[in-house]
Amino acid sequence: MRIVVLAGGIGGARFLRGLKSAAPDADITVIGNTGDDIHLFGLKVCPDLDTVMYTLGGGINEEQGWGRTDETFRVKEELAAYGVGPEWFGLGDRDFATHIVRTQMLSAGYPLSAVTEALCARWKPGVRLLPMSDDRIETHVAVTEPGSDGEEGERKAIHFQEYWVRLRASVPAHAVVPVGADQAKPAPGVLEAIAAADVVLFPPSNPVVSIGTILAVPGIREAIADAGVPVVGLSPIVGDAPVRGMADKVLAAVGVESTAAAVARHYGSGLLDGWLVDSTDEGAVAEVEAAGIRCRAVPLMMTDTDATAAMVREALALAEEVRA
Ligand code: GDP
Ligand code: CA
Repeated sequence: MRIVVLAGGIGGARFLRGLKSAAPDADITVIGNTGDDIHLFGLKVCPDLDTVMYTLGGGINEEQGWGRTDETFRVKEELAAYGVGPEWFGLGDRDFATHIVRTQMLSAGYPLSAVTEALCARWKPGVRLLPMSDDRIETHVAVTEPGSDGEEGERKAIHFQEYWVRLRASVPAHAVVPVGADQAKPAPGVLEAIAAADVVLFPPSNPVVSIGTILAVPGIREAIADAGVPVVGLSPIVGDAPVRGMADKVLAAVGVESTAAAVARHYGSGLLDGWLVDSTDEGAVAEVEAAGIRCRAVPLMMTDTDATAAMVREALALAEEVRA
């Protein structure tokens, strides 16, 4: 079976671990979000691609969910000693090597898709990992930073990482813009993988800044909608709140309530055929089905690989149900 998965970072990576366990013989292509990418210290950093690569390749810091295991921060300390920041973005010594190799290859003229393939030759993630695009796309967030003395602050656009990591999504977001997406093309292999897929899965990744960004690359949403195969998603919102992170903040910025049903309606029946909500959100099933999307309530907490594999089996079963 050929499975295409649109993935962000932690939520996508953990889901993929369960998918590999539940469907060991499947041919899995992952279309990874690159809207989180940022240039730091002259290096190109791709946090979501790396989270997927490290998680599936056995190099991830398990507790944190991102970054390398057994990490040290000597380089960062030395940079700080020169007064060179940002100090709010955690780049460890082992992680630095990945970004150095990537940047070197990009500078030599290789596209990001080829670079990602080269990095994966070491990590052997057991899936085909494709960036959504070889073109530069950076998610920016329009915010109002609080002014002094309670004055109306200044409205400005900042890089997603600055909003998410430095500000911890603590200021209101007015808009989320995947800058560059409208001019971008899907990376080689992306549209072909979608066209050849038997099923497309949306893991419980962030619907706005992970999956939303991938869908913003012209051609990808259309290819999925037109593929004529079941498209099934799993809710990242459980009990009206994100399981981890701050997805509620970016959902509010695009005018979507933080409920499992509202996220399903946001994707819409033109894209989604099936949607899984957590058992605690059983009450949302009728609302999702009324929107023309087949829906089931099942446990959706990725506590370990077995629990995640059970979620995957539910998603694949729902896919077969809508196919029939
Ligand atoms: P990021 O790029 O690291 O933020 O990761 P993703 O976009 O792939 O996934 C983030 C989303 O995963 C968040 O909105 C969380 O609510 C969701 N998430 C994390 N763990 C779980 C879980 O165990 N179950 C469910 N249903 N969602 C989860
Ligand atoms: Ca991310």
